Amino acid sequence: MAPVFRFAPSPTGHLHLGHALSALCVWRAAEAAGGKVLLRIEDIDVARCRRDYADAIEEDLAWLGLSWEGDVRRQSEHFDDYGEALARLETRGLVYPSRLTRADVSEAVARVEEAEGRPWPRDPDGAARLPIPGARESEAETRRALRLDMAAALAELGGETLSWREEGVGPAGETGTVAALPERWGDVVLARKETPASYHLAVTVDDALQGVTHVVRGQDMFHATSVHRLLQRLLGLPAPAYRHHRLVSDEDGRKLAKSRGSPSLRSLRVSGWSRADVIAAVDRLLTPHVLKSSP
Ligand code: GLU
Repeated sequence: MAPVFRFAPSPTGHLHLGHALSALCVWRAAEAAGGKVLLRIEDIDVARCRRDYADAIEEDLAWLGLSWEGDVRRQSEHFDDYGEALARLETRGLVYPSRLTRADVSEAVARVEEAEGRPWPRDPDGAARLPIPGARESEAETRRALRLDMAAALAELGGETLSWREEGVGPAGETGTVAALPERWGDVVLARKETPASYHLAVTVDDALQGVTHVVRGQDMFHATSVHRLLQRLLGLPAPAYRHHRLVSDEDGRKLAKSRGSPSLRSLRVSGWSRADVIAAVDRLLTPHVLKSSP
């Protein structure tokens, strides 16, 4: 069966050079493997995502000469699939409702750090790792999130270790067989009050439902792969191979996507850039001596 790749942008803005680099990494890897590419619009965060940005993504990819197979999958149209996966974890007691607010977390962290005289561990995204012993939830709040009970999930694995095949490279040079370390994440959010699925849950379910065999994406997602491997294992889903590519930084060392004012592909187009100019710029960025190191 032909390998299946996917490009999965979030329509929170227009594509820029960092996205072009990511897209070209996906399509080139697919071409080299004789595989196909699917397009998935990751728009679960309905407050931040916009349909016009999603349409613009399709136009920009077409302008770059990149085409995908079949219909575009829009995550906002598939909340039932994520709900079904969540329900399977819930019936096994692996999910719990949480009413913790940011203020509750800060207060609990301050108290534990004070009592223990050491910093409370952080997850790879820099957030305080949950659970925090003795953390009190806001009384007035209704449920804010459904979280994975990491300790219960790892207990279900009974000491089995998880790993993935890394065909690219992680931020610390990880490659080949990489051990998954989901415990570093603690009790990750699987659904929120306003969004019935989190990124981790939706991406894991979709990669399996779409039959994705190869995930090519930025190194900023490298550590999240540990959570995705755990969810795959808990839900009995196959594990794709992963290829994390380096990120493009601006002059200040900030990830291009996050830095303000990085020109969109469409503004480059308006100012006279051709598709060949964009591809040449991406190739320059992929050349190691030009590329700034990622986070
Ligand atoms: N939607 C994510 C982004 O735009 C990519 C997620 C992934 O490839 O797994 O950054």
